[in-house]
This record gives sequence, structure tokens and C-alpha cells, in this order.
Amino acid sequence: MNKQEIIDVTEENCFHVYNRFDVVFEKGEGVTLYDTDGKEYLDFASGIGVMALGYNNKEFNDAIKAQVDKLYHTSNLYYHPSLANASKALCKVSGMDKAFFTNSGAEAVEGAIKTAKKYAYNKSGHNGYGIVAMESSFHGRTVGALSVTGTESYRNPFYPLMDKVTFAKFNDYASVEAAVDDDTCAIIIEPVQGEGGVTPAKKEFLEDVRKICDSKDILLIFDEIQCGMCRTGNVYAYMGYDVKPDILLTAKALGGGLPIGAFLVTDKVAKSSLTPGDHGTTYGGNPLCCAAVEASIDIMNKNNVLENVNELTPYLESKLDDIVATCDKAMSHRGKGFMQGVVLDESIKAGDVVKECLSRGLVVLSAGGNVLRLLPPLVISKADIDKAIDTIIDVLS
Ligand SMILES: *Cc1c(COP(=O)(O)O)cnc(C)c1O
Repeated sequence: MNKQEIIDVTEENCFHVYNRFDVVFEKGEGVTLYDTDGKEYLDFASGIGVMALGYNNKEFNDAIKAQVDKLYHTSNLYYHPSLANASKALCKVSGMDKAFFTNSGAEAVEGAIKTAKKYAYNKSGHNGYGIVAMESSFHGRTVGALSVTGTESYRNPFYPLMDKVTFAKFNDYASVEAAVDDDTCAIIIEPVQGEGGVTPAKKEFLEDVRKICDSKDILLIFDEIQCGMCRTGNVYAYMGYDVKPDILLTAKALGGGLPIGAFLVTDKVAKSSLTPGDHGTTYGGNPLCCAAVEASIDIMNKNNVLENVNELTPYLESKLDDIVATCDKAMSHRGKGFMQGVVLDESIKAGDVVKECLSRGLVVLSAGGNVLRLLPPLVISKADIDKAIDTIIDVLS
């Protein structure tokens, strides 16, 4: 099939739920994607923060190929070696005590919501608990995750959603305090908001939220599905804030491109929440995806990926300063590590900038509030940064 045939067959047969860009990617190598015409694209989106190690990493590919030949599914009725290895590695790097593997980010959010409700139920013996979530947040598209997602337009067609969700203003502790009541079982926050506009939490905000959670025995859920796995310059962003959640959510980069997420809990939560019979998943944590988690964590450690993020972040940020200084349409930038956003003038659409960058061989993303979002693979070089920034400046001028 040629490019147009691929597009036509896809549109004819796939439910039209995405407005896809007019490009057909065929191959990836390092930080470069190739389309069906062999055109190169520098990837500063990494499949929405998933391909942290870049494409076609030999060690990663060898690890999952080896697992394919051994075993890739058994169900959660049985033990397997890669579940042991992946859970051990993930608990170690995340600083949490127990992991439950899922197939996606949204499924991790669902598990966290159920865990928090069960924790509160165990304490009081009754149900009816609610959750405080943030405005401009994004937690996924399933009904529970959508219920705690801050964008009204995403939720509106689907009411009634999960009951008793109250939205507070991100980085505004007084509004969180006002939203909490006796029925609150959890507060869910992205330490760095992604889809909502690439906005980092303020340290005092997270500290204050932690305090109210401690004083009322409310569980603090950090959704690090996008900002976790070294992206913001810490293995998990919470470590940079020195504010530990009771439940940590991870996905996107976790499986190096294979679909796997997890919710992780502290021992305190594990001891008094979900028990056998309360929750489950058929595919979640299968041998293949667990081998991918093992390999991702291992390669990140061995290749000093976190060090690369921390070494190059000041350079990337200085280049973003250049964009703001030279382009009238770039108002400011914000973010953490390799999760950065350029706030654009109201007069232009981030989506149009993304499109123009793509036609010039640079893959970038947009985010809410007219922000150009950069989520490059964590293995980019200085030269890659230069190339990406030059293209963005060209497009914006
Ligand atoms: C992507 C994302 C999700 C949803 O993950 P899916 O795998 O698409 O279900 C949830 N929370 C955050 C912060 C995300 O970025």
C-alpha cells in the first residue's frame, strides 16, 4: 500500500475518533522517525512521552524478543519470572512498596480510585466517599479517570460520571482546603500537569496538600503517568518535591513503548485496601510487558539517562529563553526537565504550529491553553536540541 492507500484504508475501517496528521510513519531509529517516503523527522514528542529510550534500542529489542520466544501471556492466576523482576525493579526505583500492573494509564487511575475508596471503606465501614481533583488536570478517558479530569468539555457529553468529584484550583491550596470534606477519601494531582498545559506544581502547594492528607487520613494520589520515569530530572517528580504520595501512578515511558502502567502503594495502603477479589486484569503485567519494564529500568540506569536529562535541561531551557526572546508569538515557557511547554500568543493556534513543524521534519505536541509541548526522548543530544529549537523559531517567525 502507498501512503494514500494506507490513509484511506485506515479512515474507511477505523472509527474516526482521532484527527490524524497527514503522515505515515514506518520506522524509527534513535530520536528519528521515518515516513513512507523515507523523509526524516526529529522526534520531540516520543509518542506522547512513551519512547523515552528512543526507537530501535538494540538492548531493549533483544530483551523483548527473548521474552517473546519464552512466554508472553499466562494470566494473573500464576507467577512468572518477569513479574517478580519488574515489580522488584519498579518498587526500588519508585520508592513505593507494592505494585499492581495495568495495561494503560487510565487503568492505573481506575485502580487508584478503587484503592482509595476501599481504604476509606475499611476504616469507617460505610461507602459514599469522594475525590478531590484539579482543574486543568488530565487522568485519562475511561469513566472513572474522566470523572477526575479537569477539562469540562471532555466530561460534558458523558454525564452522569462518577459521583462526588470536586475540582480545586491547581497550585491554590485554599481551594483544595475548601473542596475537602468528611467524605473525601483521596486527592489526585499531577505533580507536573501535562495535557492541561505543562504546568509544574509549586513545592509549598504539594507540601500543604500532603499535610491536610496526613491530618485527615486522606490518600494522596500522584499521577506521574506523563512526568514519571526520569522525565522531569528525578526518577519520579515527587522526589524532586520531597513530597511522597500514598499512591503513585506510572505508565507512558514505563514499558519503553509496550503498553503497561502501574499503580503503586505504600505498605500502609496495601495493608488496608484491596484484597483478593477486589480488583483484577487479564493482560495487566503480562510476561512480555513486564520484560519491557525490566529492560527499560535497567537501560535507563546503565545508560545514565537521568544524568542526561539533568545535564541538558539548563541548555534546553536557555534555548527556550531564546525562543521567547526572538519570537513575538512566544510569550513564556514553563516545565521541568524534558517536559517543557512554550506558551503561545492567543492569535495563533498551537495545533497549527505543530502541523508546520511536522512538515519541516520536527515532531512536537500541543497542550491545553495554547501551549507548544516538548516531550523528547530522554536520550537526545545538544545537537538535537539545537535542531529542534531552530525549526520552532523558523516556524514562529
Ligand atoms: C496519558 C495520561 C493518562 C492516561 O493514560 P492512557 O494510557 O492514555 O490511558 C493519565 N494521566 C496522565 C497524566 C497522562 O498523561
